[in-house]
Amino acid sequence: MKKQRKCQGCKKTLDSDLMHKITLEKKSGKIFFNPSSKILGRSAYVCKNKECIKALLKKRTLKNALKTTETKEIEELLQSLIVES
Ligand SMILES: [Zn+2]
Repeated sequence: MKKQRKCQGCKKTLDSDLMHKITLEKKSGKIFFNPSSKILGRSAYVCKNKECIKALLKKRTLKNALKTTETKEIEELLQSLIVES
């Protein structure tokens, strides 16, 4: 059975392989794009589409989901995902 995760952009629940995983690493406190789930820490998900990533940039819900104040790091990560997708 596939894992279901909630997108922080549109708040829909989808299969996790349709989503980007973003993780706040417990050890370093840094934020990573975490497609292989190798990084351990608090994670949040967003659909693999620009609309949801842009919504996250706007609403800053990712900051709350990851319980971090590293707004700039999150912005840079999300911008890089927009470029890739
Ligand atoms: Zn979404």
